[in-house]
This record gives sequence, C-alpha cells and structure tokens, in this order.
Amino acid sequence: MFDINTILRDNIKVLTPYSSARDEFKGTAEVFLDANENSFGSPASTTFNRYPDPLQRSLKEKISSIKGVPAHNIFLGNGSDEPIDLLYRAFCNPGKDNVIITPPTYGMYEVSANINDVFVKRAPLLPNFQLDIDLIGSLISAQTKLIWICSPNNPTGNSMQREDIELLLNNFNGIVVVDEAYINYSRSKSMIAELVEYPNLVVLQTLSKAWGLAGLRIGMAFASEDIIEILNRIKPPYNISEIAQREALLSLDNIEQVNNWIRNTVKQREMLTTNLKQLAFVKQVYPSDANFLLVKFEDPRAIYHYLVGKGIIVRDRSSVLLCDGCLRITVGTPDENMKLLKVLSDYSLVKS
Ligand SMILES: *Cc1c(COP(=O)(O)O)cnc(C)c1O
Repeated sequence: MFDINTILRDNIKVLTPYSSARDEFKGTAEVFLDANENSFGSPASTTFNRYPDPLQRSLKEKISSIKGVPAHNIFLGNGSDEPIDLLYRAFCNPGKDNVIITPPTYGMYEVSANINDVFVKRAPLLPNFQLDIDLIGSLISAQTKLIWICSPNNPTGNSMQREDIELLLNNFNGIVVVDEAYINYSRSKSMIAELVEYPNLVVLQTLSKAWGLAGLRIGMAFASEDIIEILNRIKPPYNISEIAQREALLSLDNIEQVNNWIRNTVKQREMLTTNLKQLAFVKQVYPSDANFLLVKFEDPRAIYHYLVGKGIIVRDRSSVLLCDGCLRITVGTPDENMKLLKVLSDYSLVKS
C-alpha cells in the first residue's frame, strides 16, 4: 500500500517552513506594517508594493471551478518546471534514490533529476510509442520514488494507454506523475478524475500551451491534499508574482476563446497531417493528440536547414531515441501552416 510517510524525505518531514508576514496575519486591516513593504506605493502603472498571496487563493478557486477539483488539491508553480523540481526535493534523497523515465520524453524530468543528484532509470517506449510496462516493472526498486509519464507525450504526440497508467498506480508504492501539458488537444480524458482513487497520483497541467500563457509561467499540479501540503511547505514563499496571478485570473474568464483555439488547432493539425503525407520526401506523420506533429523525413537535417533559410523554425528531434529522421513541428495559425506547406512543396522542386 502507498504510504506517503515511507517515501517522504526525513529532512522534509521535520522541516519548519518559512512563515511569511502574510501567513501570520491573513485578515484585512487599515494599516499593514508587518512585511517591510514600501507603504508609499510603487513606481509602476499598477501597484505592486505589496507581496502577493503566497497560496494564490483566488486563482486556485477559479481553477477549481473550471477543473472540478477542490482548491486544496491544487498546487501552482512558476511553470511546470517548479512542481517537477519540488517533487524531487520532497521525495528523492540525493545520491540514493532513483526515478524512472520513459524516453523519448520531455527533457526536464532528467535535467531536474541531475540537478538534484537523483539517479535516472530509463524504460524506453515500445516502437508504437506506448509504455513498456514489463520493463518499467523490472526497473522498480525500493529506492524508486517517482515514475514520470508524459501523456500526450512530447515529442511523440501520442497519449499513453490509460490501463497501463492505472496498472502502475495500482502496483507502485511511489508516486506516478502524469504530465498532461497537452491534454486539451487530446482525445483521451484527463487523469484528474482519478485523483480520488489514487493517493499516489500527481497530474501536471500548465497554462503555457492551450491557454496561451507561456510567458506568464504558471504550472499546475493536482494531487492528494497530503502531497499538495508538502509542496506548499517547500516552495519559495512567493513563487507566483502578483502580475502573473492577476493576469491568469483575468485570462481564465476567456474559456470560449481558448476552446476556439483548441478546435482550430486540432483542425489544422489534421489538415497538416493530410497534406504532409502527400509529400514524397515525408516518410511518416505520426498520429498526434497534441498541438504538434512528429514527422519523419528522408533527410531531416537538410529539411531543417532549408526551412531555417525560409524563416521557419521547427525542432530537430532526429538524434533522439526512436525519433530517427524526425522533426517536431508545432501547429501554427492557418497562415503559418499554409506557408510551411508551400515552402515544403517547393523543396521538391529545389531538389529535382
Ligand atoms: C511544454 C511542456 C510543459 C510546460 O512547461 P511549463 O514550465 O509549464 O511552461 C510541461 N510538460 C511538457 C511535456 C511540455 O511539453
């Protein structure tokens, strides 16, 4: 059985968290002289002289109503990068513990492990880009604390089979992190609904992709109250700036706009897939549940440099495991996608 106390690091168990002025007095008052702020104001267009809410209560209430998850099951970070790092710091003893990743996948899981001196075990995806459950099972040891699953996966674009993820959740006594950065573009449903079933599930989402707020840096972690409480204790006290909280709160009112973009992106993704497949030098366009396509070319390096010369930048993933010959192409606006297709169809002429 999963027991959070058996995987929590000892130094975190006994940690006395930083207590800010805003933690100690939460009410309203006429005069605030408790946080050494500048009471005169700030030389900005709006006032920023006060520290922001360390627990981002208004923003969490809003996210709670959109996602149907209680606010106490939500953690907000400075991008998803922050909860990724905090999960290592809470549960993985440096130089001792290990985690499992499933390459090819998002690079931050490994970078963050290396920063925290945590050993990384690799269970490469199967040729169909699904999880190799037997291999993952054989890699789990008593020191394995986290398993990182990205679904839909970056850079392959596919969603992982739900039964596989649930098999891990049911049989692994550490934490299974499911990174759903691209969930809004997916045919599969979010694992968020499963939080009540699984105390060892952490779901990551972000405002950086479908919500169009990559520059604001807001990542979300959904998990049991116990896990959220631990993340709150170890985070930097004011990890989300006032301006980010305010702008995110306003942006979350524009669900209609965002849903429109999602529908358009999905339509454009299918249009791009159909048209890319017609090109003689395209060997494969992998099915995608995300806002990008993994595309296999005969000569990916040549295409990459040709596109750069035409002012179009894509991501070269051709040296990544299982992604031989592949470029990762983000779905753009209809104009951008038409330009990409035009430039690529000209490539056949250039070549011949
Ligand atoms: C883009 C992306 C994120 C988002 O990271 P942020 O720090 O929230 O911007 C997270 N996970 C994956 C797999 C991604 O591709």
